[in-house]
Amino acid sequence: MPHTQQFASDNYAGICPEALRAMEEANRGSATAYGDDPWTLRAADAFRRTFETDCELFFVFNGTAANSLALASLCQSYESIIAADIAHVETDECGAPEFFSNGAKILVGRTTNGKLTPETIRAFVLGRTDIHFPRPRAVTITQPTETGQVYTLDEIRAISATCRELGLRLHMDGARFANAIESLGCSPAEMTWQAGVDVMSFGGTKNGMAIGEAVIFFDRALAEGFDYRCKQAGQLASKMRFLSAPWAVMFETGAWRTHAAHANACARHFAQQVEALPGVEIMFPVEANGVFLKLSETLIEGLHARGWRFYTFIGGSARFMFAWDAQIARVDALAADLRALTTTDAA
Ligand SMILES: *Cc1c(COP(=O)(O)O)cnc(C)c1O
Repeated sequence: MPHTQQFASDNYAGICPEALRAMEEANRGSATAYGDDPWTLRAADAFRRTFETDCELFFVFNGTAANSLALASLCQSYESIIAADIAHVETDECGAPEFFSNGAKILVGRTTNGKLTPETIRAFVLGRTDIHFPRPRAVTITQPTETGQVYTLDEIRAISATCRELGLRLHMDGARFANAIESLGCSPAEMTWQAGVDVMSFGGTKNGMAIGEAVIFFDRALAEGFDYRCKQAGQLASKMRFLSAPWAVMFETGAWRTHAAHANACARHFAQQVEALPGVEIMFPVEANGVFLKLSETLIEGLHARGWRFYTFIGGSARFMFAWDAQIARVDALAADLRALTTTDAA
């Protein structure tokens, strides 16, 4: 039995109808293994059309693999990767980027909302240029950030210009890329290669797929040997069509955007209902599908007592994530419970 809907993570959601239909269609009969099949071709074409460029593509099982293998392909073991302090690659990948790069170090830039700046990047590169320090070679930015902020096109362009100037490659962790696209309303090309992004991890799981992320190399030369890297890391799916088919249908139907738009709208809707409540503070601007609330212990306990599950690991804030399947009635129920608790509190 499925439990009542929760907003602790966008990964609580199931598989969206389009992705499921694609897997069912891919299951009619057999196909060539290891990606040499019509579905994988169709998905790759859909990516190239969507991004308006002849990019190189790889389908892997999860975001940790996509990020860490992409970053490993950008630097040598004695080099380093500049990331924000709350970046998933730093805090939630169990050292996989360091592991798969054979020791490249992540340099952690202090931020308030997960956004790196050209100044932070510059300070790392120019601060130490001697042989004792791991030479910076790559920068990774998360779009949207782990606290739901979206880099503007100008911010991405400024970062990529700094990268070019300093000889760094730029990676984008797009675990929620679709939400960022819906937020800014620009084209995928504008947010990535046209803004100077070299490689991107594109999240399918949080967009409504069962499993799977894509690694997109806009600079094809950087993809040299990446197929071997995936295989060695245990990330080459033998029945690749079940990873790739959902992408094809998600792009062809536009579902990747409508699902993200719905998730973002639910976050805004929730934020609007709770922003004025006494004792409730929205910690970060709501620009994607997450809402982060600063709540008293009493309110947190009250919500838990009413059966709500959520994480409180970022700066003591309660995080609520809305997925493609968020039910407006449940969003309203959460807001209503919070309203009831704040009223009791005040009394
Ligand atoms: C969810 C997420 C990932 C991917 O995580 P996996 O559990 O490895 O699939 C990567 N980056 C960010 C910012 C995420 O939120």
